[in-house]
Amino acid sequence: MSPLYTSGEVYHSQLIHASGHRLNTVRIYIVLVLGIETSCDETAAALVRDGREIVSSVIASQIALHERFGGVVPELASREHLDKIVPVVAEAFTRAAIDMTNIDGLAVTVGPGLVGSLLVGVSYAKAMAFALNKPIVGVNHIEGHIYSVAFENPPVQYPALALVVSGGHTNIFHIPSPGKYKVVARTRDDAAGEAFDKVAKMLGLGYPGGPIIERLAREGNPQAVRFAIPRMGDGLPDFSFSGLKTAVTRHVRETGMRPVQNGEQPAQNIKDLAASFQSVVVRSLVGTLERVAPDFGPRTLIVAGGVACNGALREASRTAAERLGVPAYFPSPHLSTDNAAMIAAAGTVKLVAGERAGLDLNADVTLRLQNLDLEEEALKRAGVRYRL
Ligand code: ADP
Ligand code: MG
Repeated sequence: MSPLYTSGEVYHSQLIHASGHRLNTVRIYIVLVLGIETSCDETAAALVRDGREIVSSVIASQIALHERFGGVVPELASREHLDKIVPVVAEAFTRAAIDMTNIDGLAVTVGPGLVGSLLVGVSYAKAMAFALNKPIVGVNHIEGHIYSVAFENPPVQYPALALVVSGGHTNIFHIPSPGKYKVVARTRDDAAGEAFDKVAKMLGLGYPGGPIIERLAREGNPQAVRFAIPRMGDGLPDFSFSGLKTAVTRHVRETGMRPVQNGEQPAQNIKDLAASFQSVVVRSLVGTLERVAPDFGPRTLIVAGGVACNGALREASRTAAERLGVPAYFPSPHLSTDNAAMIAAAGTVKLVAGERAGLDLNADVTLRLQNLDLEEEALKRAGVRYRL
């Protein structure tokens, strides 16, 4: 295997903090990592320097393919990844004008996600690592989302508190130091993005629902419909969005609201419902973030994942961060939804720390991101059930 550090310019970056060395004593050289992401419905490849600078990032989205089904169809997704993986990786190198042999390592998403989708990326990345004789690491997709703030923000100060909200996940993590994660809160049922998507589908608005609901919400009254913030009876700071979905269904039925048909202009009552729904989701997410923060004393708040594109969520998180006296970092919108740059950034920290995966690296559909204070047993005893 080739060394990870190539000779080159001396470079001080977040990696220095990440690998636990002191800033003025260690010289870190330029590290170039190829990231590959195929966990769900995006085939993505990116070349990232030092875990902080995107040299190229290519994303082939399958939204158009799945749109008419109102959600991702796993079998179609994996076939599409097979078609796209070779040209997408090639395009990442072409755009960067870099030869494949010049990378220092590879990082690939190993889970959580759809097994057929994950396997395409994992098999391809392993074959490439073997052929090029380069080190490879597996990356947890959720950890990738957390690292999406490594670009275009100052370095994260630890401890950090991260809210990861996407189509498949809704978690708050306490991160005392890089690579250490404790789940502080999570959803008991639907993910927040999933709730956006389901409510949009119910209202005849199209897929993915998040951006459409946000656009309509701008013209709606968030106080028009009063939805209660879901709280857990056992007092844990967990989320629940399926009850909210039911409340929206009931509201539609009881008021005789007519879903939008054939792309017609949504009526004002639909805009009001969109605004009210978005408002309660944002208050639930940010309220919980603010409530748990004092227990962990974060120096940075991170809000990442597809739903972090949402302007109302950003605004509320920024206000909460101000009250807590810490900065809030968000990925820029193109890095909020699935991409490979964030996977390369997370993988760079592992590669620099000396982590190496063998060629037995495999997809892990239910991979968890928690390596501190494992409380699974205690939760099981308390009868708490999580769907995701
Ligand atoms: P996953 O990897 O879990 O499928 P992504 O990170 O790709 O999810 O994010 C996709 C999710 O983000 C979808 O559920 C989508 O509706 C949601 N989303 C995207 N933009 C917005 C927005 N502006 N407001 C709310 N949700 C959004
Ligand atoms: Mg994602």
